[in-house]
Amino acid sequence: MVRSLLLTPGPLTTTDTVKTAMMGDWCTWEEEYKKLTRGIRSRLVELAGGGDQYTAVLMQGSGTFSVEAAIGTFISKEDHVLIGVNGAYGRRIVEIAERLHIPYSTVTADDTKALEVASFEEKLRTDSSITHVMFVHSETTSGLLNPVQDICRIAKQFGKTTMVDAMSSFGGMDMSMADWNMDVLVSSSNKCLQGVPGFGFVLANRALLKSRKGCAPSLSLDVYDQFETMENDGGKWRFTSPTHAVHAFSQALAELIEEGGVPVREARYRKNQETLIAGMEALGFKTAVSKSIQSPFIVSFLYPDRTFSFDTFYTALKADGFIIYPGKLTDLPAFRIGTIGDIHVSDIQRLLESIKTYMTVRGEIRI
Ligand SMILES: *Cc1c(COP(=O)(O)O)cnc(C)c1O
Repeated sequence: MVRSLLLTPGPLTTTDTVKTAMMGDWCTWEEEYKKLTRGIRSRLVELAGGGDQYTAVLMQGSGTFSVEAAIGTFISKEDHVLIGVNGAYGRRIVEIAERLHIPYSTVTADDTKALEVASFEEKLRTDSSITHVMFVHSETTSGLLNPVQDICRIAKQFGKTTMVDAMSSFGGMDMSMADWNMDVLVSSSNKCLQGVPGFGFVLANRALLKSRKGCAPSLSLDVYDQFETMENDGGKWRFTSPTHAVHAFSQALAELIEEGGVPVREARYRKNQETLIAGMEALGFKTAVSKSIQSPFIVSFLYPDRTFSFDTFYTALKADGFIIYPGKLTDLPAFRIGTIGDIHVSDIQRLLESIKTYMTVRGEIRI
C-alpha cells in the first residue's frame, strides 16, 4: 500500500490493521455481524461516560447525515433551537434547521473566536420559547474549541435540551455526557476514533430518544426508528449497512484500547500538535486561533505573505507524501493541518522537514 499521510480530518490516516479488517464480504443479518454492531454500540456508550442512561445509534452516511438525523429526530417544528455559530459546521446546523423548517435563533462569534457563554445566557434569559441549544464543540473550520461544558451547563440551568456536534473531538478528548450536561452528541466513524468513512453515530439520553417515536420528518434519517430496530433485532441496521466500514471501525475501537484509551490518544494528538506549531512558528508561520482555545485536532495557519500559493505548497507536500487541507475561514487566507489519525511525532517532524525545504527553495527562509 502506498502510504500517503492524510493530515485532513477526515478521512484521516488509518492503521494498516484497520484497512485490512475490511478485506472480506459480510451479510448484514447474520448473528456475527449484528454482534459486531452491538459491541460497537456499547463501546461508544462507554466512551460517552454516563452509563445506561445513554444509548448509541449508528447511522449510514457521512457525519452530516447524522447531524441532520439528530436535528430532525430531536427537534420539532413547534420547538425553537438556539444555534451557536462560529464556523462552517455551525452554519451547516443553521442550514439544516432551515431545510427542516425548524424555528431557530443564533449566537454568533467570529470564525477564530470561541462562542461566549454570556451570549447564550442572554438569549436564554430573554426568549423563553427556546427549547434546545445546539453548537459545535471542536470547530474543524478553524481548529478552535468552544466551551462545551459551560454552554451546556447554562442551557441546562434554563432547562433546555443540549445537542452537540462533537464530530471532530469525540474519542480524541475525554468527555462525559453526563457530567458535561449533554443530551445528544453526534460524531462519525472517520474522525478521532480512526475508522474509515461510512457512518456516523448519535449518542443520546435513552429516555429522551424513547420519547421521539414518529417525530422525524425523514424515513432514512430517523434516529428513533434505527434505534428501535437495533434494540429489537439485536444490532440490526434498518437498511444496508456499510459492512466494511463497520468491520474497520470495530478494529479501530480495539486499537483505541490497545493504545491506552482516550487520554493516551489525546496526549498523542497534543504532542503532534505542539510539535507542529512549534516547528511552523520557527518557520515563520502563525496560527489563526489563539492557543488558549486551540484544539489538539486541527490547526489553521495563516498564509505567510501575499505571494504564498497554497496550490504550489500543497503540490510540493503531496509529492513528499503529505496531504494537507485548504483553509475554510471566511475572512482569513489560511490552510489547515490535522494532527489526528495514525499520525505520530516522527511523521510531524518529517512534514516539518518537507515544509522547511519548500520554504527554503522559495527563498522564504535562509539557513
Ligand atoms: C467532519 C465534520 C462534520 C461532518 O462532515 P461530513 O463531511 O459530513 O462527514 C460535521 N461537523 C464537524 C465539526 C466536522 O468536523
